[in-house]
Amino acid sequence: FPVKLKDPSLLTGRAYIGGRWRDGDGGATFPVTNPSTLKPIQEVADCSVAMTTEAIDAAYDAQKKWAKMLASERAALVEKLHDLMVENADDLAAILTAEQGKPVTEAKGEILYGASFLKWFAEEGKRIYGDTIPAAAPGKRIVVLKQPVGVVASITPWNFPNAMITRKIGPALASGCTVVARPAKQTPLSCTAIAVLAERAGFPAGVFNVITSSSASPIGKELCTNPKVRKLTFTGSTEVGRILMEQCAGDIKKLSLELGGNAPFIVFDDADLDAAVEGAMGSKFRNAGQTCICANRIYVQKGVYAKFAEKLAMKVHDLKVGDGFAEGVAVGPMIDAAGMKKVEEHVQDAVSKGAEIEFGGFPHALGGSFYTPTVLTGVTQEMKVAKEETFGPVAPLFAFETEEEAIAMANDTEFGLASYFYSRDIGRCFRVAEALEYGIVGVNDGLPSTAVAPFGGVKQSGLGREGSKYGIEDFLEIKYLSLGGI
Ligand code: ADP
Repeated sequence: FPVKLKDPSLLTGRAYIGGRWRDGDGGATFPVTNPSTLKPIQEVADCSVAMTTEAIDAAYDAQKKWAKMLASERAALVEKLHDLMVENADDLAAILTAEQGKPVTEAKGEILYGASFLKWFAEEGKRIYGDTIPAAAPGKRIVVLKQPVGVVASITPWNFPNAMITRKIGPALASGCTVVARPAKQTPLSCTAIAVLAERAGFPAGVFNVITSSSASPIGKELCTNPKVRKLTFTGSTEVGRILMEQCAGDIKKLSLELGGNAPFIVFDDADLDAAVEGAMGSKFRNAGQTCICANRIYVQKGVYAKFAEKLAMKVHDLKVGDGFAEGVAVGPMIDAAGMKKVEEHVQDAVSKGAEIEFGGFPHALGGSFYTPTVLTGVTQEMKVAKEETFGPVAPLFAFETEEEAIAMANDTEFGLASYFYSRDIGRCFRVAEALEYGIVGVNDGLPSTAVAPFGGVKQSGLGREGSKYGIEDFLEIKYLSLGGI
């Protein structure tokens, strides 16, 4: 392991089913690799479909009792998990960086951000209020209850190995659901570390289960088609989201889907240019550009285009690329060779169609999966970078003339997760914010994510919201009691 952990017991390659730590069937394992050094760091239990079924059974058996506990008792456990995550933030950050690659300071930020979902939903879980409604007939009363949906399956990606899990299990556990979580094969260790802490916090057996596996689709199929699972919460690509949605159609499972994005970032002539550059840097280069809300297309109005490009390129020039544990590193590696290939393809495609390289444009001298942060100018809507999520440290700059043109180009995508724009004109701020077909709009803000606000997309970016008071609704069913004879 690349660094020494204060508490080595947080690192485990075992799955967690019904309160027991388990090896894969027949001792099967798969390796987790450090994307920075390309060295294996830990063998992890390769769970079978039968083990997944077992985890679902355990979650199902635990759920009724879990739901009957006082909301305040559940909240206390979720809060305890939050506290343990904060106490162990350095170790959790080290585990995260080792398996995912992001700079360790950024990883620590993710741990605290991830923990904040637990704190928030521990509080929200105590406020699951129902309704009373004036009756429609004499002698009757109407009462509305909110109840947990039941067993929840969670499937998550590798880019936020901690926060993607907590933003799902926070509301699920606080509302009285039990969970079977299947983390991405690249980053299961952050999830098993959460399970270690959940056990320490004192969650009853079966309430939180973790299935680690090298192959996703057979496990996913069981999670989507086992009738004991009442809801699937998924974060990942639109392509996989569509498959899971189809699989869940069989027994009409409830769904929360956080899917792909293709975020536009618009800079108007009247913007505070330094603030816009700052916002673009945060939005574009965080996690080496591997987030679903990263600015993917940067539209800059003609009057400030050259100046913005110059300022951005200067900042990008200063970004230090390297191993996430090295001092001062701002940009880590791509998660794997496939991620690297996509970035290279997008840059080559743009250049072949006339884009110019303002800075970067090539793999980093460190080799492996490191890519030099890049700024491209003269980018147009015909290029791949305009249509697909690049998921890498490439900032493509498009020029536009009018507000209408910027809005039309920004909306010209099947995705609708996050969008950003910079302007100092209050009228324009409202017009553009209302016109953008996105679930999230950062107005003079490149970093909108927080546990207290609703995160989610429209169009093919998904269904449902995570975080905020809305985030817990997705884990609740409404039951209407019609009381007669009164
Ligand atoms: P990403 O590009 O972030 O890897 P994916 O949608 O490919 O996005 O993967 C997101 C998560 O979904 C990962 O944990 C992956 O293993 C899992 N996954 C991929 N394909 C399937 C599938 N057919 N069924 C269930 N899970 C899947």
